[in-house]
Amino acid sequence: HDEEAAAKAAAINADSGVPTIFDKIIAKEIPSTIVYEDDKVLAFKDVNPQAPVHVLVIPKVRDGLTQLGKAEPRHGEILGQLLYAAKIVAEKEGIVDGFRVVINNGPSACQSVYHLHLHVLGGRQMNWPPG
Ligand code: 5GP
Repeated sequence: HDEEAAAKAAAINADSGVPTIFDKIIAKEIPSTIVYEDDKVLAFKDVNPQAPVHVLVIPKVRDGLTQLGKAEPRHGEILGQLLYAAKIVAEKEGIVDGFRVVINNGPSACQSVYHLHLHVLGGRQMNWPPG
């Protein structure tokens, strides 16, 4: 499966500290459609949307958070800010009554970018269990 192979390849760089494509999005070297931004958090539309609304919420400074599984006590504040930003995004996108927040952690969850990000998905009926 292509997605799984890509996720495994991406994971090789997970701990190397190399920049990801999201650094270029933060630096605005790559254009994105920004939905919400503050001093700590950036939220922008996913380039390959899996629902009518599909927004990624990321910390502007990675600080070791390549993935949720690397979280340390010092990350508590930014983790809370990311989750709160997801709610603001849902409001802005008009899906606050029904939306899903997803974090893919590691190859078996098909994480492909090693800079922590929350997926905010909505605008259609979501199914459970997820794939
Ligand atoms: P993951 O699979 O790591 O949980 O999610 C990474 C997400 O980043 C994917 O949904 C993918 O579509 C998105 N993505 C990858 N590259 C870009 C990009 O250059 N721009 C935007 N807006 N999204 C991207």
